[in-house]
Amino acid sequence: MDKCDTCDFNYTDYEFDDISKNINSLVSQYAKRLQAGIDDPDIEIALWSRPSPQIWSGLEYCCHIRDVFLIQRERLFTTLVESTPSFSPLYADQRAELGRYGAENIEQVGLEIKVSANLFSKILLEINDEQKSRTFIYDYPTTCERNITWLARHTLHEAYHHLRDLDLVTELSLKA
Ligand SMILES: [Zn+2]
Repeated sequence: MDKCDTCDFNYTDYEFDDISKNINSLVSQYAKRLQAGIDDPDIEIALWSRPSPQIWSGLEYCCHIRDVFLIQRERLFTTLVESTPSFSPLYADQRAELGRYGAENIEQVGLEIKVSANLFSKILLEINDEQKSRTFIYDYPTTCERNITWLARHTLHEAYHHLRDLDLVTELSLKA
């Protein structure tokens, strides 16, 4: 996947060396949305609410992206050491239930996204050109061989894509 049909994110628009900076700027957008939930009780309720039983709440999307940064950091380290490793799935839906995303604290999640994003993005700054092409087997959206440049772009895409989800579900819940 090099372009997302849902959010129009184009992987090749982002140079590796800018991805850390781009992640930080998206994280400040998440912080803004979560701060709005702290400041405004209506937005707080909307962040907690699932627009329908099968769709995550805004807060659940925030918890998801927090965990994405953490797991991608681990995958990055594994790829820097092992030769073309494969990874266990993220188990996003199971993780949301097991990790009780829906019962998390908005302010705390805001802090945790900053920490997890920073833990991921600061490692990107240490990657040299030879390391950027180290490969791994990735299972999403289809199973194929990818490299660290793609992992960085894909993680930025996750943050970009789910910020859009966060806005969409918050808007739906505010209207409900
Ligand atoms: Zn997308």
